Amino acid sequence: MPRIAIIGGGISGLSAAFTFEEKRQSGAQSDTKIEYVLFESAPRLGGVMVTDRADGCLIEAGPDSFLTEKPWAADLCRKIGLGDQLIGSNDADRKTYIVVRNKLVVMPDGLMFMVPTKILPTVLSPLFSLRTKMRMAAEWFHPPHKASADETVAEFVERHYGAEMVDRLADPLLSGVYGGEATDLSVRAVLPRFADMESKHGSLGRAMLAARKKMAAAAKAPAKSLFSSLKDGMQAMVDALVARLDASALKTSSSVQSLIRQDDGWTVSAGLQSDHFDAVIIAAPARAAAAVLESADANLAAELAAINYSSSVTVTLGYDERVRRSLPPGFGFLVPRSAGRRMLAATFVHNKFPHRAPENRAIVRCFLGGARDEQILRSTEDEILQIVRSELRQIINLNAEPLFARVYKWKSAMAQYSVGHLERLQRIESLRQKLPGLALAGNGYSGIGVPDCVRSGTEAAGKILAEMGMWSAA
Ligand SMILES: Cc1cc2nc3c(=O)[nH]c(=O)nc-3n(C[C@H](O)[C@H](O)[C@H](O)COP(=O)(O)OP(=O)(O)OC[C@H]3O[C@@H](n4cnc5c(N)ncnc54)[C@H](O)[C@@H]3O)c2cc1C
Repeated sequence: MPRIAIIGGGISGLSAAFTFEEKRQSGAQSDTKIEYVLFESAPRLGGVMVTDRADGCLIEAGPDSFLTEKPWAADLCRKIGLGDQLIGSNDADRKTYIVVRNKLVVMPDGLMFMVPTKILPTVLSPLFSLRTKMRMAAEWFHPPHKASADETVAEFVERHYGAEMVDRLADPLLSGVYGGEATDLSVRAVLPRFADMESKHGSLGRAMLAARKKMAAAAKAPAKSLFSSLKDGMQAMVDALVARLDASALKTSSSVQSLIRQDDGWTVSAGLQSDHFDAVIIAAPARAAAAVLESADANLAAELAAINYSSSVTVTLGYDERVRRSLPPGFGFLVPRSAGRRMLAATFVHNKFPHRAPENRAIVRCFLGGARDEQILRSTEDEILQIVRSELRQIINLNAEPLFARVYKWKSAMAQYSVGHLERLQRIESLRQKLPGLALAGNGYSGIGVPDCVRSGTEAAGKILAEMGMWSAA
């Protein structure tokens, strides 16, 4: 019976394990029998997906939701019996602010990432100077351009809309969502749709409008919420997956140190034990993958080690009804680098997902860290709370004492797709192909969001099953 090891028990590794479990259960015939073992170095499964509770409020320590547009996470939720738990963000109250000179300025209606698709709200918005507004008008005539080499998001956005757009929108959006820097991230890896639009249409504004018209004509279905989540929090997904897996196959507090290619298979060493497997999926961060692969293939290990990760800190503060009434409407705000703050973004959770707080409570979730502030990890929880409370006071005049506060530190958890990332992935793939029975999954490669991680784990398992001649696309 083929034996498969999975290294890493975050959502990527659990999705891979679930694919094998499905295969195992569908395989009454002996030719589809398989055995899998999942190694996780931490004492718990789920990686950065952790849901906590305090004072009747639901707190997400890591991801709080996922993009509805990407179907893989919601599809998995339906398969594991959580279909009726799926909820959408409260888009009727969707409004995001940008901090400009210590004030919240609302992002104008019709902005798709940084591309304006509605003229009036953009023209009237105080978010942009007259100069940037004129650049937006001129962008309409941008000629099609197929860049010969990859470039940073900052270079790309600046070519279209100027430096202010990078500072006010592109950089805060990327640091609030990816913990990354527009001056480092690859436009082809992070915004492939925009790079494609430029090469076909030239102007992103015209391309976006054409795409929207097409979508509006095709879709008669009611609009879906931008974000989806689960009523009881993201960890419900982890718990439901774990409940469906073979408990004896899940080895927590088991850190894999090395992988050695041996006898048409792999020897996996974790702690004092070594075990032989026919195939291995590494679903740990790329740097951890590099460390375990060092002796199997130093070139592959070097490519994996070159994928950078940034760290983040989330701080959740709970407040009473009075504060709730005084906070601005909307989902929250983003902080541009030029504001000189340590906070990157804050979410008003009670507005974005109202059932996560009782009506007499407000939840403010703040993000810090990212590529530009790795040293925040060295601060104590008290120091981090002081920073957050002082900045909330200055930005939204929030002076009240929180009813509760939680700080979560995530070291090197967010992959950064720097310029040249896609070329690196090609080199990784050609080296990987020389090592039969090895697959890679996780947020280091083709998408850092939860849906992409689910897809990567599922696809890695499919790849291994296909290599073993056991995959049917059923
Ligand atoms: C603060 C934060 C907020 C986020 N918000 C969102 C969001 O709102 N929406 C969204 O879609 N995405 C969000 N993301 C991104 C998304 O949550 C992650 O990219 C995704 O959950 C990563 O899953 P993973 O399984 O690939 O990695 P991880 O969750 O990092 O899991 C990898 C696991 O591998 C284990 N491991 C490492 N080395 C070894 C070893 N040698 N042996 C055994 N085990 C090992 C680790 O202990 C870990 O448990 C957020 C991420 C963070 C950190």
